[in-house]
Amino acid sequence: MADCIFCRIAKGDVTADIVYQDEQVIAFRDIQPKAAVHLLVIPRKHIENLYDLERADQQLIAHLMLTIPKIAKQQGLDAGFRTVTNTGHGGGQEVWHMHFHLMGGDMPPMQ
Ligand code: 5GP
Ligand code: ZN
Repeated sequence: MADCIFCRIAKGDVTADIVYQDEQVIAFRDIQPKAAVHLLVIPRKHIENLYDLERADQQLIAHLMLTIPKIAKQQGLDAGFRTVTNTGHGGGQEVWHMHFHLMGGDMPPMQ
């Protein structure tokens, strides 16, 4: 998706502070961090959100999920971390490329 900011980050056309990447997944720092560590973990493939996920994406989503705790460990979040995924307008989604917020360290409690 040419006009998708996260696709452009994944392609390297837009700069981001990338902390992890492989063939399927990329993780970079949120530009407006809400925690000491606040990353966005995304598939390189453009998938809008969890409603857009298909059976054929099974391996991809499993890989992404398995990668999240590895990235958290790399970031020193041994005490734990939070993952949040906003889906659709009702979920407060602003960027329409599926992403998992990975937050840890100094952060406010969930309301
Ligand atoms: P959501 O769609 O889950 O509500 O929020 C999107 C998140 O992406 C926000 O936390 C916002 O700060 C972050 N974000 C939006 N545009 C950019 C960008 O161009 N670069 C980075 N690194 N983060 C972004
Ligand atoms: Zn995209």
